[in-house]
Amino acid sequence: MSDTTEHVKCLIIGSGPAGYTAAIYAARAEMKPVMYQGLQPGGQLTITTDVENYPGYPEGVQGPQMMIDFQKQAERFGTDVRWGMVTEVDFTGPVHKVTVDGEKEVTADSIIIATGASAKWLGLESEERLNGHGVSACAVCDGFFFKGQEVAIVGAGDTAAEEATYLSKLCTKVHMLVRRDEMRASAIMQQRVKDAANIEIHWNTETVEILGDKAVEGVRIKNTESGEESTLNITGFFVAIGHKPNTDVFKGWLDMDDVGYLKVKPGSSKTNIEGVFASGDAADKIYRQAVTAAGTGCMAALDAERYLSEKGLH
Ligand code: NDP
Repeated sequence: MSDTTEHVKCLIIGSGPAGYTAAIYAARAEMKPVMYQGLQPGGQLTITTDVENYPGYPEGVQGPQMMIDFQKQAERFGTDVRWGMVTEVDFTGPVHKVTVDGEKEVTADSIIIATGASAKWLGLESEERLNGHGVSACAVCDGFFFKGQEVAIVGAGDTAAEEATYLSKLCTKVHMLVRRDEMRASAIMQQRVKDAANIEIHWNTETVEILGDKAVEGVRIKNTESGEESTLNITGFFVAIGHKPNTDVFKGWLDMDDVGYLKVKPGSSKTNIEGVFASGDAADKIYRQAVTAAGTGCMAALDAERYLSEKGLH
């Protein structure tokens, strides 16, 4: 072991609703949890606005504020919340090893994974080239830069509907590019899109190329039924087509499906490795809600506590 190695009873990887809920339970159970927050402290809720469906907030709450509250609650009971990214793991022995930021080694009796998921991209060369120069996967983070301008958003799920509605309040016009002739978004979200006078829905529409050299100047789109191509003069292009679980670092160690969602034993947070528990969006491709993530974070802490007790480690 290098002299930078530290041993902890319970290590939590990730800082969304799952990670913080696990931390609250683990800290109150005297497991002295240490949390590494990852690249996006607070997780996906820090890039959303109103959360109206989390019980306990009758007036709704802003996502970033909710995550500050979660963190405060976890710290109140002694969670050691740290900035840092887990870059490698070694689950060979009963004591699990992780490397943080490529250098610091931490060993842990139990590990709770709560690494969440990240935005997916279309995969176009122009999208990559113009990323940060008018192309964004987060309307709430970047919409403000396009105030008073015309923008497009691709996707047809709840995220796309929510972000299109958000953008419609800032921008003169929002073009919503939907690849099929219907939306996947829930009825209430679709209705909000349809109620916004300045959102135009382009059905059966694919993105061919985002135009512009140093900044977005337009987008070339194609109607998949007629094959007809046209250009929209926009300055912002938002991608809202779903997410990928942040589980690459666990490949080869933990069982996962072909997309990368971690597999847990039904009705529990147990992975295929003893003492390693999974929670939140990293292990949930179906519900993906803050409240379900928090619920599974709680399960992971309870499972970890039981595991440590059974092993005589707590
Ligand atoms: P989803 O997977 O639900 O939707 C992704 C959308 O992107 C689909 O409409 C899909 O089209 C489209 N899409 C995927 N790939 C492409 C592509 N290459 N080109 C064009 N379009 C593409 O992801 P979301 O992020 O919208 O939602 C994830 C989960 O989070 C859902 O369960 C959702 O309900 C939930 N959520 C809830 C919210 C709330 O309640 N406030 C807010 C945001 C999300 P197609 O339909 O054709 O497959």
